[in-house]
Amino acid sequence: MPPNDHPMSIALVGIGKIARDQHLPAIADSDRFALAATVSGSGGIDGVENHADIAALLHARPDIPAVSLCMPPVPRFVAARAAIAAGRHVMLEKPPGASVTEVFRLERLARAAGVSLFATWHSRMAAGVAPARAWLAGKRITRLRIDWKEDVRKWHPGQDWIWQPGGLGVFDPGINALSILTELCPGALHVAEAELTFPANRDTPIAARLTFTDGAGLDATADFDWRQEGGEIWQIEIETDIGALKLTEGGARLFIDGAEQPTAGCGEYPALYRHFATLLAEGRPDVDTAPQLHVADAFLLGRRVTGAPFHD
Ligand code: NAP
Repeated sequence: MPPNDHPMSIALVGIGKIARDQHLPAIADSDRFALAATVSGSGGIDGVENHADIAALLHARPDIPAVSLCMPPVPRFVAARAAIAAGRHVMLEKPPGASVTEVFRLERLARAAGVSLFATWHSRMAAGVAPARAWLAGKRITRLRIDWKEDVRKWHPGQDWIWQPGGLGVFDPGINALSILTELCPGALHVAEAELTFPANRDTPIAARLTFTDGAGLDATADFDWRQEGGEIWQIEIETDIGALKLTEGGARLFIDGAEQPTAGCGEYPALYRHFATLLAEGRPDVDTAPQLHVADAFLLGRRVTGAPFHD
């Protein structure tokens, strides 16, 4: 779809924090998409046509070819399946589903229906990630440290779903780090051990420590923690045979051997919508479950520790 040539109508489904903070501004600034409707059980956005559920949208607006699903992971599969069955292109917030199997099913359904399915990983669009990947190419990783620590009360105020089964707990942000890791060195590592700390009164972990292996003795760990106070830390440090790389601020800033590198980018969510437009033009899906597989493995392998109860 060329820029400025008939922006495609799109509907936004689930008008919560990420829809308001990122999707609405990204669509408003896009020359590829125009917001035609919302689906919101709590009323939607002033001045935009709203439907109470996705079935109502799909029935009333066959002219809207694409939907962007911004609700939590557990209710997303049913909505995505309905949209695909109605012949719509679908963009999924991360993580692409509550389970890996449902994402594989969605991909098969989308291919059979001839529509595009985009499982987004917004952190991969952070400005430092592409140059970090380019710098790493051909180098041998000797040590890897991920620290992804934030205050859950600051970043997820009042969100009950993150503490419910399928809500992922601290892996909700942690999977962003794993999306960068799997972009930087795809297929190079897998989770060998994990320790998951569950608050005594919650169903999802508040902290997790992952140890990865490359099968050849690599020292690689990830620490995810929602009990962080005094500012978030979202960083990845990688030492190689010829130099060291550090991504900070969720991948926005890149340092090589301590020196900050120039980066360029249009912003994570504008980049996601541009990529979705490219997928639509090329008529293909983009569904990478690699970050989610690391999380699934951590839940399969992880030793469970009970921690202090958590109260909002
Ligand atoms: P949120 O603020 O809780 O909003 C989710 C919205 O989805 C709700 O406001 C509601 O919108 C709708 N919804 C539909 N079914 C729901 C259900 N069963 N439970 C709760 N809400 C339901 O969540 P969010 O932070 O926007 O996160 C949504 C997704 O975006 C998650 O997968 C998250 O990982 C991802 N994400 C979040 C952030 C962030 O900074 N918050 C960043 C990147 C990605 P209506 O009332 O309009 O129906």
